[in-house]
Amino acid sequence: MARKSPLAEKLEEVRGRIAEAAIRAKRDPKEVTLLAVTKTVGPEQIRELLSLGVHDLGENRPQQLVQRAAQLQELLTRRSTYGEAEPAPEKTRWHMIGHLQRNKAKPLLPLISMIHSIDSLRLAEELDAQALKIDRRIPVLMQLNASEESQKSGVAVGAAVHLAEQIDSMPNLQIMGLMTMAEFTDDQSKIQNTFSRTREVFEEMKWHKIGGANLKHLSMGMSNDFELAISEGATMVRIGSLLFGGKAEADHHAEKDE
Ligand SMILES: *Cc1c(COP(=O)(O)O)cnc(C)c1O
Repeated sequence: MARKSPLAEKLEEVRGRIAEAAIRAKRDPKEVTLLAVTKTVGPEQIRELLSLGVHDLGENRPQQLVQRAAQLQELLTRRSTYGEAEPAPEKTRWHMIGHLQRNKAKPLLPLISMIHSIDSLRLAEELDAQALKIDRRIPVLMQLNASEESQKSGVAVGAAVHLAEQIDSMPNLQIMGLMTMAEFTDDQSKIQNTFSRTREVFEEMKWHKIGGANLKHLSMGMSNDFELAISEGATMVRIGSLLFGGKAEADHHAEKDE
């Protein structure tokens, strides 16, 4: 039998840990989608991921997402011209997971399956207007600053439900839930608090019927804390360094160049 590649081995390990965490939480492992964060990865590795059945890919910088998507498309097209069986490019779902500036949104919209990082009314309004121009309704999550670190991107807990209602009224955006990032800390109870508070806001949104039946996603958990996130109800975990090695720099802080 052929030896597994390092990536295939890592993926098996991560999938196993996701399933175990779900079962421990008495949840169906199928409720949790693995989103591979590709910020450090080349197109060949992304192609391998697709062939291993991972179709949800995340990037935290808009230009990089556009570039990666184009590189991947080119690679897949080139290979299929040579008659190799390839994962269908149209199955790839790109997720924008990092802080988004309004003036960088436009080229993303035709490519994107979901934006996880809506953190202001102005950004939502801009996306709504741009989405109208290309006749799409874009699935979005609102990013919650549940750990209430002052420098971090995300909507304050106290402002969340109101902003979610406003987003819900925009015809070209479909609000589907919340995204959050926990603190950089070894303190498990702090991390858990961030996730459980996010779930509470999510429940409150549900109670207000925001998003209707489409309100079903909690994007939370990264390489270091995804098991805890699953125990608190995560439906999407965003994993980079654990799959690909290396230490990708996460956008823990809002960029100040807007
Ligand atoms: C980089 C990044 C991740 C993945 O982080 P890892 O610790 O490498 O798994 C997840 N979410 C966001 C928003 C990121 O920027």
